Amino acid sequence: MKAAFLTGIKRIEIREIEKPVPKKSEVLIKLKAVGICGSDIHYYRAGKIGTQVIKYPFIIGHECSGIIEDMAGDVTNVKIGQRVAVEPAVSCGTCEFCIDGRPNICPRVKFLGTPATSASPAIDGAFREYITISADNAIPVADKISFDEAALTEVMAIAVHSMDLVKINKGDTVAVFGSGPIGLAVVIMAKLSGASNIFATDLLQNRLEMAQKLGATRVINPREKDVVNEIYKITEGRGVDVAFEAAGKQETIEHSFNAVRIGGRVSVIGIPETDKIYYSPEIRRKEPVIYHVRRSNHANKDVERIVSLIEKGMLKVKPLVTHRFPLEKIEKAFDMVDGYKDGVIKAMIEIG
Ligand SMILES: [Zn+2]
Ligand SMILES: [Zn+2]
Repeated sequence: MKAAFLTGIKRIEIREIEKPVPKKSEVLIKLKAVGICGSDIHYYRAGKIGTQVIKYPFIIGHECSGIIEDMAGDVTNVKIGQRVAVEPAVSCGTCEFCIDGRPNICPRVKFLGTPATSASPAIDGAFREYITISADNAIPVADKISFDEAALTEVMAIAVHSMDLVKINKGDTVAVFGSGPIGLAVVIMAKLSGASNIFATDLLQNRLEMAQKLGATRVINPREKDVVNEIYKITEGRGVDVAFEAAGKQETIEHSFNAVRIGGRVSVIGIPETDKIYYSPEIRRKEPVIYHVRRSNHANKDVERIVSLIEKGMLKVKPLVTHRFPLEKIEKAFDMVDGYKDGVIKAMIEIG
């Protein structure tokens, strides 16, 4: 089968490798769509995220969907030919965090397309024709759901996990700093959760337009306006109940902490580009609750909940996909997403 390997900084090569064979309790999935995630771009640009450093050659990618092609004899939750979304995190199931219902922070988690940590091995990712994974991580979707939509469930699941943490109340005012795919997913989920004012910011005009289309009530470009001032003006000096940081930039961290109201909630989702991010100690006076978001929570059935919302027509995720490339053109796709070219929001690699 074909697989796309990162072989160096901003270098990708398609190579022929052996098709994997499902082990006990695993399924073999013929992949059909794999999204390029912001985290993939971090690996592409820098070869690492924090202490997780790639040993080349390595296959990244984790936002994927496909069809069950084979399985171990003990698998009962899916059938051959079943269309599935993939929950890319396989946690240990026995540590205190797994037992506490928080498998997303399991230190032994095996996550598709990520390098080794001190507690878990490197796991090859999804930019290839087939993967094997625990059957429990193959989430059935209806045939009417496209592979793009099924692959986007992982992105949406992060937004739903973030909502679960901050607990949006009906009528809450919300600001989303950074309108890339994750920020846009948060806009969509905040609207579904009953937020009233939803502010969204970004430096790119097309992303602001998308944010507006997906439910933002007010979009602000920091190149044009002081976003924090603008938010205070519109909320009559109060600030927002919940601020979501979705870009991993120093600026968006500061905006989130400055725009949140006294006693509000901040959700930090973005992956920082630098090793250190600073914030003003003045934030202490407001005593906000700060949540950090680590992917999504399989124990809460985040992906399954997103699948169900899409199947019922309550959640439209298709507009997020702006570009599609075959596996052979993956270098072009990464170059485009890396450079924010051609108004790209989510680029999908279509396989087979
Ligand atoms: Zn991702
Ligand atoms: Zn665990």
